[in-house]
Amino acid sequence: MTRRIPLLSNRISLRLTLVVAIIAPLAVTMAATGYLVLAFLEEKVEQRMQKDLELVARAIQLPLSHALERGREGSVALALESAFSIGRVYGAYVYDHRGKQIASAGRVDPEPEQEKLTELAADGKELGEYGSVAGREVFSYFVPLTDSGGRINGLLRLTRRVSDFREDIRAIHGRGLVGLGAGLLFMSGIVLYGHHRALGRYFSSLISSMSRIAEGEGDHRYTPHGPREIVAIGLQFNHMLDSIQTAQTELRQRRDKQEQLTTQLRQAEKLAAIGQLAAGVAHELGTPLGVVSGKAQRALRSTGLDLNIAASLQDIRHEVARMEHIIRQLLDFSRSNAIRKKANSLSQLAISSVSAVAEEADKHDVHVELAGLENDVLIAMDSVRMEQVLVNLLRNAIQAAVAGRVELSWGVVGHRAWVQVDDDGPGIPDEMRNKLFEPFFTTKHVGAGTGLGLAVVHGILREHGGELELGRSSLGGAFFRLWLHVDETRGGETP
Ligand code: ADP
Repeated sequence: MTRRIPLLSNRISLRLTLVVAIIAPLAVTMAATGYLVLAFLEEKVEQRMQKDLELVARAIQLPLSHALERGREGSVALALESAFSIGRVYGAYVYDHRGKQIASAGRVDPEPEQEKLTELAADGKELGEYGSVAGREVFSYFVPLTDSGGRINGLLRLTRRVSDFREDIRAIHGRGLVGLGAGLLFMSGIVLYGHHRALGRYFSSLISSMSRIAEGEGDHRYTPHGPREIVAIGLQFNHMLDSIQTAQTELRQRRDKQEQLTTQLRQAEKLAAIGQLAAGVAHELGTPLGVVSGKAQRALRSTGLDLNIAASLQDIRHEVARMEHIIRQLLDFSRSNAIRKKANSLSQLAISSVSAVAEEADKHDVHVELAGLENDVLIAMDSVRMEQVLVNLLRNAIQAAVAGRVELSWGVVGHRAWVQVDDDGPGIPDEMRNKLFEPFFTTKHVGAGTGLGLAVVHGILREHGGELELGRSSLGGAFFRLWLHVDETRGGETP
């Protein structure tokens, strides 16, 4: 989905800006220059045309003067006619020295301005002026005619239609406008193409990169190319994206950490509450159970006891022992007194733990192997509680073992020591791993498990700053591996 930034749609494009800021002023400048050039050309054309008429007049001035002096009307008429073959002439007129028309050729002037003609004939000056002949606008050129003695004996007037000038000027206008239009088009083309080559394509690629990121391609980055300024914008953009990504990753990590801490806190609060309850119940039940067990034992000692009653009393004692075991576990789980760490031998811990479960191992026909006696180190620990950890793990392994194989091994890696319990049981399904350490989670049948063993292991290990790993054992079942810190003060020496 392409998200349009609303503000952009209202803005004019760079291309349009160039048109408005460069092409429009250039067009106005070109038009103004064109106008001035055309006005100049117009003037020049007009001057040239007037000059042409003047030259025609001069060409026939002499033969006309002679013909007039000699009174040859035919020659006058011929000379006038010849004016039409020399240049573009509309009408040709000859007046006598009083301004009276004596001959004409071409367009007849039906209303000559007699007064003006008389005055001009008398003055003997050359003159060019605009006027009209039979309603048409014309340009007239007047040249005096003189006899051989230099006296003025007449006046020659040649006219030309102003529309002749105008046609030429219109043609110049037309060509000028076409030239201006072509020039403008060409220039716009150059500016727009130049914009595309120099800026447009680089901006397009930058914008397309930004769009790809906006559409969700968070890892996409702009490939810098083009002019330095655009590359700088692109690189800044990439840099900004990198910073945002780093900040987001940090934020995510912090949130994960926070969630983890919250879960741990909730778990700790839950455990504390359960522990408190368990301690209360265990404390209250401990004394009456002791009394029940004691009384059953005393009754068993009495003589002449019925065999059935004796068996029942044995059952009572057995069940009470089981209850006491559960209570002990509850007390272990809820124990809140601080641990007392002392440097202890890892091998001795392993040996004493194995002997603590020897009876149970025999009962299940399991052989517990020890591996690691050569790797002994001193560990700062509360040996009683660490033994409880190993006993709980070994007991679970013994109960899980199928072909009677359980192994307890240990070793040292750098500043850390490990202790591992392996068995050849069914192993632990992945989906169960998260629940194992929750108090009262058990898969064993009623009476066989309380679900507190691993919760106790977890609690004691946490107090020792250790870690627990579990996985599939090479023996076929599960392995539980503890990691503990070697006693640094004693340098991990072998005791
Ligand atoms: P309990 O032994 O009383 O059930 P634990 O907390 O010691 O309580 O163990 C919880 C559960 O973990 C057991 O019920 C069992 O399902 C599983 N478990 C523990 N150790 C092993 C093992 N070595 N092999 C297979 N399952 C095990």
